[in-house]
Amino acid sequence: MKLTYKFNNDEKRIDIERLDYLTPNSTEIYVREGDTIYVKDNDYLYINQLIKESTSGIKSYATVSGNVELENGIIKVNNDKSDSSFVSEEALDDIKDVKKEEIIKRCESLGIDYENKLIVNKLKGNSRLLIVNAMDVEPYQFNNNYLFQDNVKELLETIELLAKRFNIDAYLLLNKYDDNNVNAVKGVINNYQDVNLKVIEDVFPYNTNQIVAKKFFKEYKYGDILFLDSFALYKIYFAIKNGLPVSERYITVNLGDPNKAYVIKTKYGANVGEIIKEIIKIDYSDRDIYLNNFMRRVKCDNLDSLIVTDNIKSIFIFPKENIVPSKCIKCGKCVDICPVGINPLAPKLDSSCIRCGLCNFVCPANINLISKEK
Ligand code: SF4
Ligand code: SF4
Repeated sequence: MKLTYKFNNDEKRIDIERLDYLTPNSTEIYVREGDTIYVKDNDYLYINQLIKESTSGIKSYATVSGNVELENGIIKVNNDKSDSSFVSEEALDDIKDVKKEEIIKRCESLGIDYENKLIVNKLKGNSRLLIVNAMDVEPYQFNNNYLFQDNVKELLETIELLAKRFNIDAYLLLNKYDDNNVNAVKGVINNYQDVNLKVIEDVFPYNTNQIVAKKFFKEYKYGDILFLDSFALYKIYFAIKNGLPVSERYITVNLGDPNKAYVIKTKYGANVGEIIKEIIKIDYSDRDIYLNNFMRRVKCDNLDSLIVTDNIKSIFIFPKENIVPSKCIKCGKCVDICPVGINPLAPKLDSSCIRCGLCNFVCPANINLISKEK
């Protein structure tokens, strides 16, 4: 599978290999202060069984079946690999006639979240515009594109349903170079009268929500826009259709070759180190590892204890490079490139910084401008 990706006007076709890792040895969930825990040590859990609920109502479920081990604030489920699963009695054949109250009820009772907030609160708000960004908002990351590609019809149906029931304008954003999704959607969009398709150039950071809002939807206040990505939309679809939480997520792994990436479908709670060792088969102990955006230069030293959540989107495993910052040569490149027009050289970054990392990326002196110790 090839996808064209454009970064700083440099167009590339990236070879993307898709892999599955759906039987991790175990999954883990961290317990936070105030969480209500619904399982005890040694309980047997089925996939989709409720494990805990946060103080804000976000619920976590088992994504593999097996026995529970409670230790040091971690709830571990040892996968017996039988895939024993709870089945909901609330599954529907079709979602098109579901009423607004039922959408809210299903999302609320499952406690599903997006960006660590309950989705139901977003749905209950007074948004005037729904934007589903099916692109990934970080460079060299392809999870949203691929989840959308795998579920085009289901996700279009869900956008249409939300637009109708919540009486809001709805846009779907796709990457111009993502031929598979663009062609698939164009082929059926006439069946979804309430879905507006917007195909834009996936030029980082134009694909980030704040900039998308400013650039293409100026007439709306940012606070009036309900942004969802493919995963959040899919959680809503699954809750409405099946009355169940989603147990699978995709992550992108890049090994430093700009022309090649892996998109791995795995389970929430799976150990990232285990996935890399088992499926990519590399020893990463002497590599530099970055999470989600390599340009921010925030290193990850704990791949062995990292678990798959919505916050883990991409892993960059690069050959070790000892980057030594030198003195600023006052070239101004960091100021020129900043997409929100702030001064990256300021001792304290302005709060409008979107942490895109572009200032770091262009700095010839290798200064980490996002770091507090710059
Ligand atoms: S200061 Fe740097 S990280 Fe922040 S928005 Fe500007 S370029 Fe991006
Ligand atoms: S890009 Fe780097 S060297 Fe150039 S002005 Fe900014 S901090 Fe200084």
